[in-house]
Amino acid sequence: MELYQELTRDVRFIEGLKSCMNCGICTAICPAAEFYDYDPRIIAAIVQSKDEERIEELLKGDTIWYCGECMSCTTRCPRGNTPGLIIMALRSLSQELGYFTESEKGRQQLAIKRVIGENIVYRGYCVLPENLVPELHPEQGPVGLWIYENRDEVYERVGANYQGDGEGALRKIPQEAMDEIYRIFEVTGGFGRFDKIEHFSKIKAESMGFTEDGDDYSDYVKYINTNNNGKHTRQ
Ligand code: SF4
Ligand code: SF4
Repeated sequence: MELYQELTRDVRFIEGLKSCMNCGICTAICPAAEFYDYDPRIIAAIVQSKDEERIEELLKGDTIWYCGECMSCTTRCPRGNTPGLIIMALRSLSQELGYFTESEKGRQQLAIKRVIGENIVYRGYCVLPENLVPELHPEQGPVGLWIYENRDEVYERVGANYQGDGEGALRKIPQEAMDEIYRIFEVTGGFGRFDKIEHFSKIKAESMGFTEDGDDYSDYVKYINTNNNGKHTRQ
């Protein structure tokens, strides 16, 4: 398969890459580049070079998962490119081919699919308070743990209408809207993408010695959620 050709089938790629002159303004404005070992200028340059080997390295590596998709880069590029859109196309291709399982940040796609993806489809929210399970999110620290354990009281005190009917923050989303979201995932191939992420992740989990054990690879999910090789951030 010609990877570059596959990318050109994605409308985000066509929109995102016109011609890059490698000036680096996108990197200067990029908030992710401040923290991660990450440079959108290089990603644009690699893709533009059509070097299949280097594109494959991108698809199998960590860097495409560092982008926060904030789209700040589109406001400053003198050539009208949007590295954030190029990266979206790279991410989709990585998921489609199963290459995402080859990197630590890429493997986290399974956790994102199971939490954020499924929340969107079935609850209408990206993240809900009960998703921030302390065991899976040690980065939340003791304050996060306290909020998690006292979440009913905390959300009531800040005026949320948590999963309640009517108006208010974190309210229950009406069924009509939920039906629309479900249909969007159906017609855009979102559910097909979910299946691919599950499929390739299970193959990877087995190859790493994890077993299904009747709990849908939850040990693997915990592993990918909490493991950090310490090599992602800028030194
Ligand atoms: S700002 Fe635009 S032209 Fe400059 S390196 Fe980034 S993508 Fe290329
Ligand atoms: S969309 Fe991605 S690459 Fe562009 S500025 Fe935001 S984090 Fe950086």
